[in-house]
Amino acid sequence: MFDANDALERIRSTIGHDGTFVPLHEPRFVGREVDYVTECIETGWVSSVGAFVDRFEEDLARTFEMKHAVAVVNGTAALHLALILAGVTRDDEVLVPALTFIASANAIAYCGAVPHFCDSEEATLGLDAAALATHLEDIAELREGNAVNRETGRTIRAVIPMHCFGHPCEMDALVAVCTRWNIAIIEDAAEAVGSRKNGRPIGHHGRMATLSFNGNKIMTTGGGGAILTNDPELAKRAKYLSTTAKRPHPYEFHHDEVGYNYRLPNINAALGVAQLETLPDFLSAKRALAKRYQTAFADFAGGKIFTDQSDVESNYWLVALILEEGDVATRDTFLKLSNDAGVMTRPIWTLMQRLPMYTHCPRMPLPVAESLEARIINVPSSVRHGVEAT
Ligand SMILES: *Cc1c(COP(=O)(O)O)cnc(C)c1O
Repeated sequence: MFDANDALERIRSTIGHDGTFVPLHEPRFVGREVDYVTECIETGWVSSVGAFVDRFEEDLARTFEMKHAVAVVNGTAALHLALILAGVTRDDEVLVPALTFIASANAIAYCGAVPHFCDSEEATLGLDAAALATHLEDIAELREGNAVNRETGRTIRAVIPMHCFGHPCEMDALVAVCTRWNIAIIEDAAEAVGSRKNGRPIGHHGRMATLSFNGNKIMTTGGGGAILTNDPELAKRAKYLSTTAKRPHPYEFHHDEVGYNYRLPNINAALGVAQLETLPDFLSAKRALAKRYQTAFADFAGGKIFTDQSDVESNYWLVALILEEGDVATRDTFLKLSNDAGVMTRPIWTLMQRLPMYTHCPRMPLPVAESLEARIINVPSSVRHGVEAT
């Protein structure tokens, strides 16, 4: 049985709640943010070019052990550009978990393409590659080397797996499926900055990975995002398309295709450089906080704190309490109780196929996503609580 009052008490003792309002996740500025932003203002380099943009891209590439990083205005723009670069065009289909943030489905729609919703697995909260393999055998066939959905006649061009709350999903199995069907992989690593699997940062399994530095993520540039890739041509094209497709010239304006104004301003990149310097401290605080929650809920009957697999070092961006058996009413009783007490908690996202603009989209059976949707509650996860705990 799930005891909502008991769960709230365990959260309050883990974070040392003193009765004041506690947000789900707050940004933290304890490094050189003010110095770097001041430098932008004093030199006048606040906008879409500048030394901090270059430095941030180099620092990101090094952190992720990737050859290239291209900084953009937000994670949604990164996804949009990555889809264009993967060759997604009008009336293609793109596979995406039903259990994800709205950004990926929207980015697919911006391309005139159609999201095709996939189920998740309980062990990682990420896309279930085995279920996807079965589904594709059922509905798809290869025509001239492309996966075509026999039921809709559309080409399935790409897939966007997402590392939910920072927990890496099973990429090896997904790579095998996508190789068989010639489907491009774009990793949505927006939530997984700093997460590692088998000792390596996530983000290298696909043709590209995308990041977000929104204010609620583990590190922030105010608003921001990036595309990671090992392919120099893709990196060059990402930068070009994000810079209004302007051909380099000392004074002429010449654009030779429809481009986008997606470049990250220097002032935001300055924040990013400073935040990356403190990321290692953020990561140890996050993992310490997750451990404290796990201990606090170890003997809790109604649910458990999600714990990563042994080959994984998750960034624990948002700590998740997974109810043992879920119904939306139980979940909502708890959400009301905790938010009324000043402890901010949130359900996971509404599944994509329930949203009015995506109800018509193709999908596989979604039993796990539907079950998880009713059982996941995010609890306060700010770095601050982890620092105070250590
Ligand atoms: C935050 C996030 C994004 C991108 O968000 P922006 O606010 O556009 O930077 C994309 N996908 C997931 C899963 C996210 O959590």
